[in-house]
This record gives sequence, C-alpha cells and structure tokens, in this order.
Amino acid sequence: MPNTTHENIDEIFGSKVFNAGVMRKRLPKHIYASLLKTMKEDLPLEENVAEVVANAMKDWALEMGATHFTHWFQPMTGITAEKHDAFITPTEDGKVIMEFSGKELVKGEPDASSFPSGGLRATFEARGYTAWDPTSYAFIKGSTLCIPTVFCSYSGEVLDKKTPLLRSMEVLNTHAVRILHLFGKNDVKKVTTTIGAEQEYFLVERDLFTQRKDLILTGRTLFGAKPPKGQEMETHYFGRIRGRVANYMADLDKELWKLGIASKTRHNEVAPSQHEMAPIFTNTNVATDNNQLVMEFMQRVAYRHDLACLLHEKPFDFVNGSGKHNNFSMSTNTGENLLTPGDDPVNNKQFLLFLCACIEAVNKYSELLRITVASAGNDHRLGANEAPPAIVSIFLGEQLTAALKSIETGKPVKEAKDLVLEMGVTTLPKLIMDATDRNRTSPFAFTGNKFEFRMLGSNQSIAGPNITLNTIVADVLCDYADTLEKAADFETALDALLQKSVIENKRIVFNGNNYSDEWVEEAARRGLPNLRTTPEALAEYTSEKNEKLFSRHNIYTPAELESRCEIHLEEYSKTINIEALTMLNMAKREISPAVVSYTKEVCDTLLAKKSCGDFIDVSAETTLAERISKLSGELIKAIDSLETTLAAAQNCESAQAEATYHCNSIIPAMEALRSTADALESIVGKEYWPFPNYEDILFYV
Ligand code: ADP
Ligand code: MG
Repeated sequence: MPNTTHENIDEIFGSKVFNAGVMRKRLPKHIYASLLKTMKEDLPLEENVAEVVANAMKDWALEMGATHFTHWFQPMTGITAEKHDAFITPTEDGKVIMEFSGKELVKGEPDASSFPSGGLRATFEARGYTAWDPTSYAFIKGSTLCIPTVFCSYSGEVLDKKTPLLRSMEVLNTHAVRILHLFGKNDVKKVTTTIGAEQEYFLVERDLFTQRKDLILTGRTLFGAKPPKGQEMETHYFGRIRGRVANYMADLDKELWKLGIASKTRHNEVAPSQHEMAPIFTNTNVATDNNQLVMEFMQRVAYRHDLACLLHEKPFDFVNGSGKHNNFSMSTNTGENLLTPGDDPVNNKQFLLFLCACIEAVNKYSELLRITVASAGNDHRLGANEAPPAIVSIFLGEQLTAALKSIETGKPVKEAKDLVLEMGVTTLPKLIMDATDRNRTSPFAFTGNKFEFRMLGSNQSIAGPNITLNTIVADVLCDYADTLEKAADFETALDALLQKSVIENKRIVFNGNNYSDEWVEEAARRGLPNLRTTPEALAEYTSEKNEKLFSRHNIYTPAELESRCEIHLEEYSKTINIEALTMLNMAKREISPAVVSYTKEVCDTLLAKKSCGDFIDVSAETTLAERISKLSGELIKAIDSLETTLAAAQNCESAQAEATYHCNSIIPAMEALRSTADALESIVGKEYWPFPNYEDILFYV
C-alpha cells in the first residue's frame, strides 16, 4: 500500500524545485528581491541577476545529483522539448570543473529546423533561440536541471506555445487592472489568470499494450469488437480504487509533489480502467508547465508499475474517451478572485462586469474557442454524447441567469435565501444548498467562482485554449475600459454597458441539456456556430476577425496565426494517415493471416467429418466456413479500398483540402475496414486472434 505519511509530504513537496524558499536561502538579499520583482510584478530582469542565479542554481542542482541542464520548452507540437548539456568545462590539467553561466541560463541556441514552424521558417534558417522564463521555477527531472524557456526563430518569429501564453496573460492583466482602478481599487497592481486542469487518463496492462501496434503507434485501438460489458453498470465512476491503481496513484502523487505540483484529487472515471487527477489551481503559466509534467509523469510512473497510461482522447470505442477540464478564473495580487459572486451577486457590479466580459468574449469568439480544442483525437468526443458538443455555450445556473435578467429588464430579482436541504434524518448535519445545481453537459460552465471550459482533449497542451481565453476576455475588458474611462458618470455608464452586454450576448447562455438533439436545433436558431470536425473548425481560424483580434493585442501576427493553422491542419492529416497505415499493416499482416489459419481449421474439420461418411452433420462447419469466407472477402476489399483512398490524398492541393479529404474520405474507409475486422473478431477463435481484445484490456487492471 502507499507508503507516504503526512510528515514526509511537506518534506518532499517541492523538493526538486528551485523555488522561492530555495532562492531566499541561497541568493544574496538584493538579488532575491530583484528576481521576485520580475516574477511578481512583471518587471524586466536586471543585469547581473542572471549570473548570480545561474551559479546558485548550479550549486543546488549538483547537490541534488544533477549532471546536466536543459532549456525546457514547448514547441508547437504541443509537447515539451529538451536538449541536455553537461555542466562540465575542461581545465588545463586535463580535468573538468562544473560551470553554468548567466548567459547559459538566459539564452540557448537549439537548432530550430526540425520543429514545426508552419512555413514561418525555411529549413536552412536553422538557428533558434530559447530564453529563460523566470516566472516558472526551474526543477530537476532525472539528473537534469530543467529551465523553463520560450522558443523563437533567428528572426524573432514565435515558434512555441509559452510566448503567446505569457503575452495573453500580460494583456489581460493590463485591461483588468484598468477596470479595477475604475472601481477605486488602486492598490491592485496585477491580475493573474488562474487555471486548475483536471486530467483524465486510462491505465492498461503494459504487457497487453505492447501486443497491439495500434496502441503503440497511435495511442488508440483501431480495431476491437464491442465487449459484452462496457460502462453501462455505472459502477466505475468514483468506485473503489483497486490496489494496483491505488499504488500507481500514490507513486504519481509523490513524483508530482516533489515537482511542486499540488496534485489534490484522484478518482475513478466513467469508463472501465479510466481515472482522473486534479491539482490545486495556480497561475496559467505554471499550470501549463505543470500539466505537461503531469502527462509526462503519468506515463513514466505507469511504466514502473508495468502499466501503460493512455492519454489519447478516444483509446476505445464503446466507452467514454478522455478530456481535460480547464478551470479558469482571474485573481488580483491583493488576493481577490474576480469571479467570486459574493453574498449579493445582483448588486456586485464589479463581479457582474467580469462575468459579462467572459460571457461576451465567449459569445463573440465561440468559433475560436472551439478551434483551440480541434484535433483528430478530440473529434471522436465532441458531440458524441460523452463530451460537450462542438457548439460552444455557457451554463450560468438559475441564480446568475436571474441576475442577468434583472440587468436586462431593469427589474430587481427576488432575494435568495439560504435553502436548507432536508434529509429526513435528525442526526444528519443540515446542508445549505448551493445557489445552482451542477450541469455536466455544458462546454463552458460557471461553477461557483470560476468557469470550467470542458471541451479540451486529454492529450492536448492547455496553452492553446488559454491563449485564446485570455485574449478574448482581455479584448472585451479593453473595450469596457475604453468606454468607462471616458464616461462622465461611471455608475450610469456601467449600468448601460452591462445592460447592453447582456442583451447582445444572452444567446450564448444555455442551462439545459447540451447532449440533446433539441439543443442542436435551438443553437442553430440562435445562430451559434456548430463546427463539427477539425477541418471545418480550422477553416475559420485565420478569419479576418480572428486576425484582427490577435494583432490588436500583439499575441500573433497574421503570419504567426497562419502558421499555427497550417501546423494544426498538417497534424490532423498526419495523424489520420498514420492511423490508416497502422490499420493496413495490422489487417494485412496480423488479422488476415489469423483468419486464414482459423478458416483452415474449420475447413479441415469439415473435410475430416465429411470423410467419415454422409451420416455426419456438417452444417455448423459449413455455415461457419461460409460466414468467415464472406467476411474475409470483404476484409480484402476494405483493405484495397483504404489503400486506394489513401494514395489519392497526394492529389490534394492545400493543407486545408488534404485535411478535409482525410476527414470525408479516409475516415469512412477506415471505419469500413474496422467494422469488417470487428465482425471477424467476434467469430474467429480467440486463440487465433493476433492481439488482446477489449475485454482483456479494459477489465484487467
Ligand atoms: P469538479 O470535478 O467538480 O469540477 P475538482 O475538484 O475535480 O472539481 O476540480 C476543480 C478544479 O478547479 C481544481 O483543479 C481546482 O483547483 C480548480 N479551481 C478552483 N478554484 C479555482 C480558481 N479560482 N481558478 C482556477 N481554478 C480553480
Ligand atoms: Mg470538473
């Protein structure tokens, strides 16, 4: 069983992080104070600070057993990248000393030519730069000191996800502070966006995982007949966590705590073998770095336990896939959460302004939010009755909907009293009811004092969605601040602004069941976009409206936006291409031969029986042989058809056309092949089938 006690939790928490505590101990006072200013108040790094910090970092890292350092960055692949350099510098006497300079801390020069740039950088222009992000702590992974950095090309184009994320946080900060100053809160110096990212995942037996090429190469099963049991008994969600999984979770928590990641909640999810972890929220930059580490360590720790952790959005058909919930809020350096409604939300104008800004932002840019979660993997979930639909809408709950109604009509709402839940048992404590029920189907739900954006795929970096979220909210706050700063009378202007915003944006609010067909129709009547697939969504990415938005706030130049679109389109087509090739490989080299062997067995039996004489009934073998032969004929046809369809992809003339072709032509051909193979799986003898099936994998751990 887990062997962590509460005493050693505070000892191990953050033990591998060069955090404020370590810095305070190891840095001269003025250097520490200066660095703190950079971190807390976004002031530029002072000269000579880096030199001193580098030296202290190196000493600390060496004591921790590190031998190397790396600039750890987040290229547009959505995962992290690292190139390790040893601390060693040779000396004249043929030995080495351990060195790490300020220059090495601040700037790295990795070759940028093999990272996706979406046409931003020609391959011969290989030079790239990484630059230290002092607002996210350095940490130790294995024997390497990892320094969080941004990544750009030789000519300054942004090639990563961290730079635009930091930019978007700064823009939101600027305009949120303007607003708060209008409310008389002049002590507020900084507003930070905060994120808590809940992460879903599957755990399967490593040995079974390695027997399936599809899992190894694509992260999901491309074949698999429906198992007799799925998730219909609803026993797995919050169910007892079995020993093996509990050990894994304990080990994972420990690793994450060492990295200063406050892993807090763990539970079983809806599908068999599916689980979730949630950390305590933190600022968006750190939360993004942390989520990358969470995903990495989920997989590493699984390995140690002879398990494989699947982060794909849809590892198995017939049961739920995995997503990520991005809990979002904004808070001030004075400790105020700007989305806290307080006791009297109807009269809490400051809260209502920030609430309306979020609603307006989501309504104005709902396509853009949907685009940020578009991927081949997530297309299996969005709109498939297990995850929010591809239509973005907001859940507010009764109380806030009533508050908005009152703003719209100018009529006061009835005062809400605390409601007490009667359990009918005198010994039970009295439960004060929450103002609103939960809604599990909404893509963007207000949950007490934050918004929960629920459309993210389990596998994706949270940077993209948060760049957009910050920018669109900042954009609205900027407009609000422009209007209110000019106003002769703040109160009157504020009331007018809120009323206008509610009226113009109320169509995005929907408190009902987002999984229903009626909602799809209703949303269409309201004019809400429904971008069903990734190619459909990405076609809208570089619209004039979006280009304007990102340029206005200096997040992306039009060229940088274009490049991101290109990368996502290519990533989509490549993903499906790899899946199709993997299917062909498995179908031709594993499934077909298995079917042939089994057919031979059946036919041999048939012949043997026949040779005994006419009196023996051979109808079973005959029917079976007929069925298998028919299906194996169909299998070959489906293989050929997928091959032909795949070859024709070459004729597509743009990345958009290619993605659309993969969506509309290749995916159906893959589905046809799968359904034939799955039909065969359900009649071919188990010992003939070349890889583990769904019931082996889903119910084993
Ligand atoms: P649920 O599954 O009901 O949504 P969880 O407790 O699993 O609830 O997850 C809630 C997440 O929201 C946690 O990661 C939590 O830290 C985060 N959270 C709470 N308050 C804020 C906030 N102000 N800003 C961002 N995230 C928050
Ligand atoms: Mg949640």
